[in-house]
Amino acid sequence: GSRLALTDPELFSAMQAEEQRQNQNIELIASENFTSGAVMEAQGSLLTNKYAEGYPGRRWYGGCEFVDVAEQLAIDRVKEIFGADHANVQPHSGSQANTAVYFSVLKPGDKILTMDLAHGGHLTHGHKANFSGKFYEVTHYGVSEEDETIDYDALEKVAEEVQPALITTGASAYPREIDFERMGQIAKKVGAYLFVDMAHIAGLVAAGEHPNPVPHADFVTSTTHKSLRGPRGGIILCKQEYAKKIDSTVFPGIQGGPLMHVIAAKAACFGEILTGDFKAYSQQVIANAKAMAARLAEHGYRIVSGGTDNHLMLVDLRPAGMDGSIAQHALDESGITVNKNSIPFDTAGPFKPSGIRIGTPAVTTRGMKESDVEQVADFIHEALQNHADDAKLASIRERVYAFNRSFPLPK
Ligand code: PLP
Repeated sequence: GSRLALTDPELFSAMQAEEQRQNQNIELIASENFTSGAVMEAQGSLLTNKYAEGYPGRRWYGGCEFVDVAEQLAIDRVKEIFGADHANVQPHSGSQANTAVYFSVLKPGDKILTMDLAHGGHLTHGHKANFSGKFYEVTHYGVSEEDETIDYDALEKVAEEVQPALITTGASAYPREIDFERMGQIAKKVGAYLFVDMAHIAGLVAAGEHPNPVPHADFVTSTTHKSLRGPRGGIILCKQEYAKKIDSTVFPGIQGGPLMHVIAAKAACFGEILTGDFKAYSQQVIANAKAMAARLAEHGYRIVSGGTDNHLMLVDLRPAGMDGSIAQHALDESGITVNKNSIPFDTAGPFKPSGIRIGTPAVTTRGMKESDVEQVADFIHEALQNHADDAKLASIRERVYAFNRSFPLPK
């Protein structure tokens, strides 16, 4: 039985409702996933009780001999997965991993060249509302208007003009493969650091289903909770020459005590990647994204850049006479969870953008295959066509829940 149910029924009922929501709804947010029971066990463990400022073998507190083992497992495993010289597994989040990279090699006022949020970049890639946009002099690159993919020639020209200290690449909403080798060449040519934020695609990289940025970049960061299917958190990989700098920037530079329960859960996640069927899973994630994009295109939606190479797609809703905000609401009412998203060169504002972003990591973890996500695409189309009809949306929701029951969450 649950202790919380007895001691804190108010909190318990919110958590139960969330459990039910996760069970019932079809989860298509591209940055989400369902962790295994083993990852949940580590993250929900009594390792949360332990202070361990410092690094394995070099701690400021006593009693760290066992959490040292957990952290070293996480470090060794993630280095093996990505072929990295050095790993720091302590960042509390992706944003903190990115903060540590910037702080380790840049001074306020330095120039950075980064992907525009409106073209798929992340807030920590120099957005004006984020520290990265306030501390540094930011120039953005983006995708070309013709094919909506990164225009490397244009980027190279801008890099030569701007002479940035650092170039950031990686994205939150970019459906195509990123050419890290080319990015590395451009950075080298202009004497800039290359920083790759692979948060969204890290699982695909781990599985060998997307080119690995590690050989080409000075710094690589990731979240661990997206396609990697681990606990909520961040990691940094770097070349040996930056190891000390990165470690001291994470602690004591920007963080205090590491979250040892989360680090243990990262170790569990990395262990699953090294020993499990993660390659087959990641291949299915991509196959599902391609199948879903093709079916939505058949229904008349425009898929940004004409398709996808990875785990996500951006759907331009303008041909359907709709915006992302209305679509997100209609899908919520139908038991399908997505997020509204700007599309490149969007003519509408961020609160009512022209698109939605759809990702397949979570439904693939539940066991969906191509024919299943085609069915999901059909549900989406039906919901969007009936977005103003509450009764109809409620009836779709019942069918969505029934369909989703065939795909149980991991135990
Ligand atoms: N980098 C990219 C590319 C992301 O998409 C995200 C999260 O959406 C992050 C960094 C930030 O991660 P967090 O939310 O853990 O701070």
